[in-house]
Amino acid sequence: EPQLSGDFATLMEWADKVRRLKVRTNAETPLDADTARKFGAEGIGLCRTEHMFFDPARIGAVRQMIMSETESGRREALSRLLPFQRQDFSELFRIMAGLPVTIRLLDPPLHEFLPHGETEIAEVAASLGADVATMQRRAAELSEANPMLGHRGCRLGISYPEIYEMQARAIFEAAVQIAKETGKAPVPEIMIPLVAMRRELEITRAQVDKVAQEVFAESGHHVEYYVGTMIELPRAALTADKIAEVGDFFSFGTNDLTQTVFGLSRDDAGKFLPLYVEKGILPKDPFVSLDPDGVGALVKIAKEKGRAVKPDLKLGICGEHGGDPASIHFCEEAGLDYVSCSPYRVPVARLAAAQAALHSGGGDRTA
Ligand code: PEP
Ligand code: MG
Repeated sequence: EPQLSGDFATLMEWADKVRRLKVRTNAETPLDADTARKFGAEGIGLCRTEHMFFDPARIGAVRQMIMSETESGRREALSRLLPFQRQDFSELFRIMAGLPVTIRLLDPPLHEFLPHGETEIAEVAASLGADVATMQRRAAELSEANPMLGHRGCRLGISYPEIYEMQARAIFEAAVQIAKETGKAPVPEIMIPLVAMRRELEITRAQVDKVAQEVFAESGHHVEYYVGTMIELPRAALTADKIAEVGDFFSFGTNDLTQTVFGLSRDDAGKFLPLYVEKGILPKDPFVSLDPDGVGALVKIAKEKGRAVKPDLKLGICGEHGGDPASIHFCEEAGLDYVSCSPYRVPVARLAAAQAALHSGGGDRTA
């Protein structure tokens, strides 16, 4: 049972009096959310919904959705996923008890959901009433040479709007249900991944807003919500003023930003990065410790451009860097509002945020 106690808990209280940055967690399971709260997380900064789709009870419907060649086939599969997602979100809202919960709509590299091998192909063919050869052709059509730079994030939400509609419906129905049960409405922050162009956010946001209106009309309940975006591609950072016109908040996806700024695959970096560090070409692994000159420069550009349009634009970071002390110092200096990290890094992040505040002269030294 994770719980902070004794001197460690006291140290954390001191840190909390000093720090300016809020600390949230990256979590999609009730267990992670609960653990993070016990460690002092002040909300969920990133719920990666694609992780919820691998459950054995769901993966069949997910494959069916991806492999169906018709919208009605996809909708049928999605209607089977809706109750699962509604339950996922209501559990998270319940655990976070009014704290902010940022839910990112589906962002899988598509190949992770494609059926592989004869058995899986045969299963999906049976579920769709299609023949095996058609399914093999479809799987070949959907496979990509570079899935991490391919048909993922909002690109999927634009190709298959019914996916984001299902997720938005699950979020709003869960929020309304909790509001009715407890008298206190959660305030979902819905996040669109891999946006590079303003128009992508405009289209996906309109889908979300439409579903919100439908659910509010059906239920007779209205809940407050926000729709924002990940800033995880250089183009998004460079056009952050345009994107801020459409989005309510930004969260920096520094994993993808590192990948795209360096032109360095997240999956392959380990093969030669250690040599680069050893030779002093890079001071540290940039996937662990935020690169201030490249990624950091884009974070600052996006902040300035975004806040020039919306002075109160909420800014966070949810890449792995959100739990790295040196990167947290950067986030303090850059003026972000919060960092989000894995549950077990929350205490480290609270402490690093306090040290960063003291270092920058912003923290209250007498606290
Ligand atoms: C990121 O890109 O930094 C991020 C948080 O998203 P993911 O790691 O899921 O791509
Ligand atoms: Mg990402």
